[in-house]
Amino acid sequence: MKGGTLRLILGDQLNENHSWFSSCRDDVTYLLMEILPEATCVTHHIQKLCAFLGAMRAFADRLRSRGHRVIYLSLDDPGNRQSFGGNIESLIGRSGFQRFEYLLPDEYRLDAGLAAVAARLPVPVQVHDTEHFLAGRSGVARFFEGKKRYLMESFYRSMRKEFGFLMDGHRPLGGKWNYDTLNRARYDDAVPIPTPLIFRNDLSPIMIMIDEAKVPHFGAVEPEGLIWPLSRDQALQVLGAFLRDGLPHFGTYEDAMTVRSWSLFHSRLSFALNTKMLTPREVIDAAIGAWAQRKEEIEIRQIEGFVRQICGWREYMRGMYWMLMPEFARMNFFDHSLPLPHYYWDGDTHMACMHHVLAQSLTHAYAHHIQRLMVAGNFALLAGIDPDEVDRWYLGVYIDAVEWVEKPNTRGMSQFADGGIIASKPYVSSARYIHSMSDYCEACSYDWLRRQGERACPFNSLYWDFLARHRRLLAANPRMGLVYRTLDRMDRHELRAVLHQAGYYRSRLERL
Ligand SMILES: Cc1cc2nc3c(=O)[nH]c(=O)nc-3n(C[C@H](O)[C@H](O)[C@H](O)COP(=O)(O)OP(=O)(O)OC[C@H]3O[C@@H](n4cnc5c(N)ncnc54)[C@H](O)[C@@H]3O)c2cc1C
Ligand code: SF4
Repeated sequence: MKGGTLRLILGDQLNENHSWFSSCRDDVTYLLMEILPEATCVTHHIQKLCAFLGAMRAFADRLRSRGHRVIYLSLDDPGNRQSFGGNIESLIGRSGFQRFEYLLPDEYRLDAGLAAVAARLPVPVQVHDTEHFLAGRSGVARFFEGKKRYLMESFYRSMRKEFGFLMDGHRPLGGKWNYDTLNRARYDDAVPIPTPLIFRNDLSPIMIMIDEAKVPHFGAVEPEGLIWPLSRDQALQVLGAFLRDGLPHFGTYEDAMTVRSWSLFHSRLSFALNTKMLTPREVIDAAIGAWAQRKEEIEIRQIEGFVRQICGWREYMRGMYWMLMPEFARMNFFDHSLPLPHYYWDGDTHMACMHHVLAQSLTHAYAHHIQRLMVAGNFALLAGIDPDEVDRWYLGVYIDAVEWVEKPNTRGMSQFADGGIIASKPYVSSARYIHSMSDYCEACSYDWLRRQGERACPFNSLYWDFLARHRRLLAANPRMGLVYRTLDRMDRHELRAVLHQAGYYRSRLERL
């Protein structure tokens, strides 16, 4: 049929409950496209490439099965112009669509790019909300207007009140807003770690196409198939498994790390959420519903810890992204400039913690929050790696990596490249923290107790070196007072030896 409306769906807009799909219309055609610039904007993990393309294809099939008209342009389609603008303009020209509509992109670059395409089109254009997030794009900016500090905690509390999550009138259920101090246990074998629910999605045709198109990639993919959920049905299964097995201990062990499991009690829902197969609202409602039915088994601190991640951190990071872009993408507070060492790409290092986190990231395209923040990110910051390189790695490696959430977490929270807009102090630590939260140090070539000399753990000397190198930028920060007092109390000979050790390690980062 000629004419009608062309509606674009991006690869992270796979929300089958969006109001667009509430009725089937002959005059509406949905367009999904795989294009080279998106597949190559950074070098992606192979699982991430396969998961996004696989989920888009499954979504197109789902729409067709529900009676919608769909145009799907695969990467190897001879008619594919390999750009959003090229494909949209060509389809409107050829098929005579009289109207173009799209959903608000979540990435700054795409938002600007699609607005420019829309401005060129010879037909009326309309933009719709994705109906996914709890807060609007500028909700966080409005909340913090006129304030000096952008504290996640205050935004989180306002969200709890606004949406009534875990509330008893105006007061938090259980009497406390925050159970973080109770949620810092090392994994202690007190309860068995659940086996993660994984799938065996056969994506061999996509892999062949990716290789034929010479799309660069890294990391491994299980030969039996992709383990990540590619449809809403599979995503709901992951949610169900998490509510059954993970939620009862989520808070307790949310910061724990162990060589014995790659996902512990984490939900592994970030890919399903970020592609919008699930909404944050339904995940929170389902979790609160499960807690309400099993209060004997699930303490309030477990459910609060989980709700905080989604209605707090996730919404906050998105709002901060829109508040700070595009200048945010160029910030480099410490002027760090070293290249990312090879082990981020192959996992081959003597540092056991780094080996476990990086090898796991390369194997599963996944690491949980503390692994990303306090191991891989901590090391990059202590070593002085260029935040552009760090950003590109994080955006490429993780299954859930989309810029609006990757960048504020990486450049802001983890690398402090914004000078403290998102995090109130740098998330850096010596080996003490890694040892207290994990069993990584037990079989490491380095000694977590040693700051200098043979087998001294690199995290220790690099930690004191980082503080000494950046004293000018950090000493005035009230949250850094204690560490600088400790640094100043250190024996001068010992400090000199520690800094010397750090210099030696920084000169041979590739060989640690
Ligand atoms: C350096 C760094 C980079 C990160 N990059 C990404 C990224 O590209 N994409 C991404 O989705 N998350 C990112 N995160 C946040 C977090 O690590 C992941 O959301 C989480 O590990 C995903 O695993 P999960 O679904 O098992 O999470 P769970 O631990 O089960 O948490 C539940 C959900 O809460 C949300 N959440 C938790 N922490 C955060 C956070 N800090 N910011 C936003 N949402 C959060 C996620 O949607 C997650 O699925 C990053 C964190 C750091 C420190
Ligand atoms: S000793 Fe140091 S390098 Fe080794 S696992 Fe512990 S913190 Fe990591």
